[in-house]
Amino acid sequence: MYEFNYHRPGSLEEAQRLFLESDDATYLAGGHTLLPTMKNRLAAPSDLIDLRSIPDLKGISCVESRLVIGAAETHFNVSSCAVVLKAIPAFAALAGSIGDVQVRYCGTIGGSLANNDPAADYPSAVLGLGAEIYTNKRCLSADEFFDGLYATALEEGEIILRISFPIPETASYAKIRNPASRYPIAATFVSQMDRCFRVAVTGAGNDGVFRWSDAEKLLDQGGGSDSLIGLYPGEDLMLDDLHAGQDYRAHLVGVLTRRAVDAPGRLTLC
Ligand SMILES: Cc1cc2nc3c(=O)[nH]c(=O)nc-3n(C[C@H](O)[C@H](O)[C@H](O)COP(=O)(O)OP(=O)(O)OC[C@H]3O[C@@H](n4cnc5c(N)ncnc54)[C@H](O)[C@@H]3O)c2cc1C
Repeated sequence: MYEFNYHRPGSLEEAQRLFLESDDATYLAGGHTLLPTMKNRLAAPSDLIDLRSIPDLKGISCVESRLVIGAAETHFNVSSCAVVLKAIPAFAALAGSIGDVQVRYCGTIGGSLANNDPAADYPSAVLGLGAEIYTNKRCLSADEFFDGLYATALEEGEIILRISFPIPETASYAKIRNPASRYPIAATFVSQMDRCFRVAVTGAGNDGVFRWSDAEKLLDQGGGSDSLIGLYPGEDLMLDDLHAGQDYRAHLVGVLTRRAVDAPGRLTLC
């Protein structure tokens, strides 16, 4: 790892000032993606600005029928918080299924979203629930936030402060995971609100997390999981790697989506 300067600002203003004053700064949260990247010499920022002591990025609450989670909250905090467990139990279960204990104690929701790994769990819930992402500059809808593999709408120096989720009537998550890393090989988050379904798929798409609109349309017509029998996303849209080929991933997405629809409020691990 190269040398770098470490900063731990106590306010948003200080973090933004440090970013502007540094040669090539990067924000640090749980470090579970950034530090391995630096150790592998794939990134060499001059300054690391640790966001974890900034109060604006902390806290979990229900505000006016929305669940609001600070960007620096760890996966453990999200999975074990009574407010989350009550509001969207499947979302709490998703957070509890990420990685292992160490990953869940260090990794943060803001870091996971900013990184937008095509196999990360949170993007599917954020897209599948139609959440809003508040930054130090603006509010972005989930539909405009994710922008392909490891890419988001975040601009240089922009900081995610919190994520605001509408509380759905039902939500569920089904995934098949890599037994070593626990990252999904394919996973589907399904939510329903006002008779409208949202279906978001992670781990499987060759352009990162995506909404599966064909499945949403059939579910909106009221046919339930049976209406999805025989429906699969296009194989050409799927990732192809040593864990699974495109045809297998497309098949998994169909099966996992039906399982999620059949188990509202639950996490289904395969
Ligand atoms: C062994 C292992 C297993 C894992 N398994 C899984 C898994 O099963 N599922 C899964 O989803 N994830 C998994 N992860 C990833 C992990 O969950 C972390 O969430 C993820 O690495 C990023 O979060 P972080 O807080 O560690 O961010 P960091 O590594 O600190 O930062 C990641 C990126 O986000 C930026 N950033 C961080 N916070 C903000 C912010 N508030 N605003 C703007 N930019 C920000 C940083 O500058 C950096 O570019 C795993 C990681 C490891 C090491």
